[in-house]
Parts: sequence; C-alpha cells; structure tokens
Amino acid sequence: MNKEIIEKYKKAGEIAKEVKVFAKNLVKENASVLDIANAIEAKIKELGGEVAFPLNISINEVAAHYVPSINDKKILQKDDLVKIDIGVHIDGYIADTAISFSIGDNSENKKLISAAEEGLNAAIKLIKPGVSVSEIGSVINEKISSAGFQPIRNLTGHNLDQYEIHSGLTIPNYNNGSDIILEEGDVIAIEPFATNGAGIVVEGRNGGSFSLIENAVVRQGRDIMKHIQTEYKTLPFAKRWLDEKFGLLKTNLFLNSCVRKEIIKEYKMLKEQNNGKVAQAEHTIIVLDKPIIIT
Ligand code: MN
Ligand code: MN
Repeated sequence: MNKEIIEKYKKAGEIAKEVKVFAKNLVKENASVLDIANAIEAKIKELGGEVAFPLNISINEVAAHYVPSINDKKILQKDDLVKIDIGVHIDGYIADTAISFSIGDNSENKKLISAAEEGLNAAIKLIKPGVSVSEIGSVINEKISSAGFQPIRNLTGHNLDQYEIHSGLTIPNYNNGSDIILEEGDVIAIEPFATNGAGIVVEGRNGGSFSLIENAVVRQGRDIMKHIQTEYKTLPFAKRWLDEKFGLLKTNLFLNSCVRKEIIKEYKMLKEQNNGKVAQAEHTIIVLDKPIIIT
C-alpha cells in the first residue's frame, strides 16, 4: 500500500478518534438520538472529513443499523446501552469505528461493554499477515464467553476498500473454521458484539439508511439519483438527508421504487433474537508486520 493512501486512512482515523471523544459528551440521559446524529455528522465535516455512512445509534437489543429519521423523537433513557458507530472517509478511504456507552451506572451494561472491548483488544494483538480469520474469531469468542456472554455469530468484521465498506473478507466473532488469512495491506474492521441474549440478530423494520447498488436511469427523481451518485457513490446514506433536501413525499416515492427495482438497497434494523442487550466495539486496522490501528 502506498504512503499516500496510508496517510488518508490515518487522517480519517484521527478525525474518527476526535469524534468519539466528542460523542462521549453528547450521549447522556434525555439526549435526542436525532440531535446526536446531526451533531456528530456535522463534527466529522467540521474536522475536514467526509461522512462514510450515516451515524448509527443503536440502543439495547438493536445491534446495528438504527439511523435516526427526520422527525425522530427517541431520547436516551437511564439504563440504555447505546452503540455509536462512526464512519469517516478521506477520498473514499474509510475509518469505521464503534463505541458503546451505558446511560447511568448499570452493571450489566458495563460488563457487556467490557466483554466486547476485551474481545476487540485480544483480536488486535493477533493481527499480522498470515493469521487466519478463524483464529481472530476464536479469541473474540473466548473473551466474550468467559465474561458469561455470547458473541453475535451473524455479525462480522470486514475489510474495507476505497468507497467500499464491506469488500469481500469477513472476520467472524467466533471460530467459524475458515482458513482465510489476512494479507499485508488488507484494511480491516474488527467488531465484536457481546450480548446476554442468544447471539443471533434478526432483521426488523427499515432502519433509516440505504445505498446505491447500481447506477441506473430512473424516470422519476433523476435529481435525487444524481445527488446520490455524486455525493454518496456506493456508500450508505440516511433517508433523513434526502428528506431534508427533496422532501418526504418525493423521497418516499423514489426510494420505494428503487428498492423494488433492486437499484437501491435498504438496511433493516438488526435486533437480537431474544431481545438481549448488545454491546459493540470496533476499530479499523491496516494489516502490516507492524499493524496500524487507525481509529
Ligand atoms: Mn462500524
Ligand atoms: Mn464495520
């Protein structure tokens, strides 16, 4: 990987780190999830980054893909376990990182959060060219299980490429028996999820974000399509962003039609099957003999 690209990843990572510190002050009892998402996305831009995907703010049994809607009234409550998943890019080079918070002093939340973080830290120690993804999954599972919880088996880490968040490789949160190995220059996100539920997520209703699958000529909403192609390319975007710019009615018609034609993909909310609480921790790492943890 050339130096210039490494620098872009590092810059995206520096911004993501600063945004996590910023987030810590926003995530508190009675805060609105919509205000938090707007503030964090604005902060990313203020620091010179681009938003790689809408801020995900998923609470309790919702493991991922909750993106606030334009008139979202949800507020954070005592004992909520809140996951903030942040994406920053520079020229398409993405830093993907997540952090979990407990609202108030809830001991189960705190145990879940440290289980996810310990899983992540143990996994990071293993990273070098040649290690298999199942070895990484194995240590994640060990840490989470020894804390008395389950890893979520059908959510995984992944590799990243320019303007691509999930580009082929998956990194499991348990030993899935894969003999696929990490190679020098891979950029990967490792993201353990720990739960006191069953360890499986199922799809719920639409979570508020979408992404373009293929460039297509549309009859209605050409301006929306053009906006997506120029501003987001194949990266996920929030329905809220389109609602603000094009209005709800036009946006709904456009998205419904494009999802039906499979031009645009919708991201459903992912909930823990038994409504267990879920904690997540995530870093983006460049795989080298001396790995670089960019976030
Ligand atoms: Mn993430
Ligand atoms: Mn990720």
